[in-house]
Amino acid sequence: MLAGIIAARNGCEVTILEKNEKCGKKLFITGKGRCNFTNASDREEILQAILTNPKFMYSSLNQFSNYDVMGLFDELGCPCKVERGNRVFPSSDHSSDVIGALLRECKRLGVKICYNTVVKEVHTHMVGEVQCFSTVVTTDHQKFSGDALILATGGLSYASTGSTGDGYHFAKELGHHIVGTRPGLVPFVAKEEYCKKLMGLSLRNVAIRILDGEKELYSDFGEMLFTHFGVSGPTLISASSVVGDVLSKRPLKLFIDLKPALSEEQLDERILRDFEECKNKNFNNSLDGLLPQKLIPIVIMLTGIDEYKKVNSITVKEREKLISVIKNFPLTLISLRGYNEAIITRGGVDVKEVSPKTMESKLVKGIFFAGEVLDVDAVTGGYNLQIAWSTAYAAAMGASAIKE
Ligand SMILES: Cc1cc2nc3c(=O)[nH]c(=O)nc-3n(C[C@H](O)[C@H](O)[C@H](O)COP(=O)(O)OP(=O)(O)OC[C@H]3O[C@@H](n4cnc5c(N)ncnc54)[C@H](O)[C@@H]3O)c2cc1C
Repeated sequence: MLAGIIAARNGCEVTILEKNEKCGKKLFITGKGRCNFTNASDREEILQAILTNPKFMYSSLNQFSNYDVMGLFDELGCPCKVERGNRVFPSSDHSSDVIGALLRECKRLGVKICYNTVVKEVHTHMVGEVQCFSTVVTTDHQKFSGDALILATGGLSYASTGSTGDGYHFAKELGHHIVGTRPGLVPFVAKEEYCKKLMGLSLRNVAIRILDGEKELYSDFGEMLFTHFGVSGPTLISASSVVGDVLSKRPLKLFIDLKPALSEEQLDERILRDFEECKNKNFNNSLDGLLPQKLIPIVIMLTGIDEYKKVNSITVKEREKLISVIKNFPLTLISLRGYNEAIITRGGVDVKEVSPKTMESKLVKGIFFAGEVLDVDAVTGGYNLQIAWSTAYAAAMGASAIKE
């Protein structure tokens, strides 16, 4: 939609071919329905948040920055607000307002949108020595020709929104290399059975560390969630894109510090105070003030201390073990969940074969790429949509130039 708007503003005649009955199905579910549509950090921070091929993004981010995105939506009647972590949302908190703003502008500019139209094939022809875009064919045998085609078909995650990886298939047919696609920003599967017992438990303000043997691969602070298969929540979703490739080769250790605000000494003092208050109670009744109910039996099991032991007979060594479990609650990460739970798809059209300035294919004249179909991805925070906006803008500018 954004590419369509920019190309139409440049005087192009634009047709959007959309397989769904409406546009922006994925956009609708972004940011838990609030659409975190960009991030208000400075350019350097945006580039740091892009994990794959940040350099490829220099030019398009310069052409259409996060501030340009906010400016455009404001102009289109969808003002924004900035929240924690510089995340930008529509002031209304409704993703539908982002979609509505784009659709109104498409309509105003006369961009034609063909719904329920699935592109099946992309055809080219030779002009001299040069392979050029000619026609797309839909499943119901309609043909659409033009000077340029922008492939903005998304990735493979949440296929019900329409992103079923068709763009990778078209790009491959056109001679492009596709860097291995895999789920990104996705929950983890953990080995330990006790995860199931913790299902639904959400922890705020925990510190996590992910280790490959002795080597620390990732650390973060924030929120996490236990699920029936493992762990999820913002800190772990972000971690998945950093450690996912190593995890595909071997299991990794996750350590959760359940009390990151307390040093081991401070935690010991706190435990001693709690023990003092319930010295005649059993161990299993002494941790209520310190830990969420669901965690208590698991922590006790991991300490190896008899749950019925009287608190006043717990030894220093046993207390040390308790502190160690609370500061380093252990889990073994064995794999990532699948595309249906992945916020993004990593991998995609190899950017070496795409012009970073115009997003035009270096192999086929008149073919452009935008958004998640490209091998570019970022952590959470509005950066992935920024990648989609910037590349769509650059592609539209490039496609418009063909016409001139
Ligand atoms: C649950 C969830 C929450 C997210 N939240 C955020 C967030 O808050 N902030 C953020 O920055 N990112 C977020 N993302 C990621 C973000 O939504 C994507 O990176 C972004 O939508 C990619 O845009 P795109 O235009 O490349 O692809 P898409 O948004 O997937 O759009 C591709 C479009 O192409 C159409 N299409 C595909 N194939 C064909 C075909 N053969 N013929 C015709 N049409 C076709 C599809 O129907 C679809 O409409 C979230 C993703 C998910 C799944």
